[in-house]
Amino acid sequence: MTDSRHNVIIIGGGVAGLAVALEITNRFPHLRLLVLEKEDRVARHQSGHNSGVIHSGVYYKPGSMKARLCVAGAAAMVEFCRQHAIPHDVCGKVIVATHADELPRLENLRQRGEANGLTGLRLIGPDELREIEPCAAGLQALVVPSTGITDYAVVCEKYAELISASGGTVLTSAAATAIRRLSDQIVVETSRGTFSTTALINCAGLFSDRIARMAGDAPDVMIVPFRGEYYDLTPERASLVRALIYPVPDPRFPFLGVHFTRRITGKVDAGPNAVLALAREGYRHTDISLRDLASSLAFPGFWRMARQHWRNGLDEWHRSLSKPAFVRALQRLLPEIGADDLVPGGSGVRAQALKPDGALVDDFQFVPSGKVLHVLNVPSPAATASLTIAKEIVDLATKDLGLG
Ligand SMILES: Cc1cc2nc3c(=O)[nH]c(=O)nc-3n(C[C@H](O)[C@H](O)[C@H](O)COP(=O)(O)OP(=O)(O)OC[C@H]3O[C@@H](n4cnc5c(N)ncnc54)[C@H](O)[C@@H]3O)c2cc1C
Repeated sequence: MTDSRHNVIIIGGGVAGLAVALEITNRFPHLRLLVLEKEDRVARHQSGHNSGVIHSGVYYKPGSMKARLCVAGAAAMVEFCRQHAIPHDVCGKVIVATHADELPRLENLRQRGEANGLTGLRLIGPDELREIEPCAAGLQALVVPSTGITDYAVVCEKYAELISASGGTVLTSAAATAIRRLSDQIVVETSRGTFSTTALINCAGLFSDRIARMAGDAPDVMIVPFRGEYYDLTPERASLVRALIYPVPDPRFPFLGVHFTRRITGKVDAGPNAVLALAREGYRHTDISLRDLASSLAFPGFWRMARQHWRNGLDEWHRSLSKPAFVRALQRLLPEIGADDLVPGGSGVRAQALKPDGALVDDFQFVPSGKVLHVLNVPSPAATASLTIAKEIVDLATKDLGLG
């Protein structure tokens, strides 16, 4: 019935699935491992459409998986990039308070960062801010020296190359279409044939809840797609930003607010916002999937979330459809920026798990079920933390799935 038997199959060739595969090939080189990716190359979705920031870990609740895995993961990512000559830069960033009511939140962030083990955090006034970022304005700023930048699509290609070099297989253009759980094996049907395995790890990002259901489980979360849209600064105005300039985030939302990011290529972008997308891979306003919409509307948590956050959601849509509104949000950080300085850039879609009570899942979430492990919530900073997330997942898989 099956044409190929494996010890472990991973669904999803993004940064999470590939990091997990790499960790397995390093830890258990004897295992037959297969990564299934539906696109024609790796990192086509979140992992290739993000801000490229190596986050420091300053934002996350002390004791959370995000805090623990991000701080260690950032150091591991910098070391990985150094070892494999992947362009990166630990350029640091400033988080800027522009209103008096943000000052206590900025101080909270400093305390959080220190509780998470970050060093070198410093609150500075407007004059020192101008020495670091000459065009930024604010009442106070937090300097975060350990933040960096890289290109996660390049990181993913390196992960895939190392997996193949260690005997694993990364099969692209192979969409998992059905999963059957038999007594001694799991059968995965794909667009490129049928494969069997004794353990399955679901790292399908925007589709991880659907893959969980395909595997016969009933995850208690639904993935909601939030599109992040960017503008690029014109090359003549890119010098307005030296490194990374962020606002103080609103603690009610998991997103960081529109900011300026210097990419590893030297280009500077502004964004991303967080607009509810009408399709799970909805990179443009016009991308609409009736199936995705129907499943969102049928989930009770969706309506509860809508009731709690409709005003903020409308503001995001307004900023998405109106360039002047987007520019006004950016001018809080960089008063000189004008509409003529910005040209439309790319976009990415975040996979955010939503609970039935309407709450957005804040921390990473990994759910074992028999010989299957579902990675159901790995939003930002999961690219930064991919190497440490992988260690955590492989520890779980060793214990719960009997991997090894
Ligand atoms: C706009 C934006 C900005 C971000 N900025 C940052 C940042 O600066 N720093 C940071 O650390 N993180 C950032 N993130 C978060 C980070 O990009 C994600 O957390 C991370 O990429 C998640 O990786 P993943 O492998 O889970 O998902 P993905 O990269 O989406 O990978 C999942 C893969 O599964 C595949 N797949 C789905 N269904 C199937 C199927 N049936 N069969 C086979 N394959 C399937 C998909 O094609 C996809 O390639 C950002 C995200 C976004 C969207």
